[in-house]
Amino acid sequence: MHELSIARSMLDIVREQMARHGAEKLRSLKIRVGEMTAVEPQALLFCFEACTKDTPLEGAALDIEVVPLAGRCEECGTEMRIEGYSAQCPACRSASVEHISGHELAIVSMEVDKTDA
Ligand SMILES: [Zn+2]
Repeated sequence: MHELSIARSMLDIVREQMARHGAEKLRSLKIRVGEMTAVEPQALLFCFEACTKDTPLEGAALDIEVVPLAGRCEECGTEMRIEGYSAQCPACRSASVEHISGHELAIVSMEVDKTDA
């Protein structure tokens, strides 16, 4: 499953960051997921919970922000929301549209409990 490998790789990053900062408990994780990644937020949430169960990360809240696919016309610079995955500039009808968002898959922030060192 697509979402399972995403959840796993995100948790790898989270664990690495937590180890580096001496954090003990993950409170919440905020991620940004582009529409074009075809990630199903509910499925990702399910995988996240499954992957964190019985680990120190269990109980962390996952906040998923879905970023819509948007583009910019390479001819006139008009920015637009792209629907149906085929883009045409609404201003000049050019089909040369560059995607400017919608492909991201990133950790935005994480909130942890630290041990006092
Ligand atoms: Zn245009």
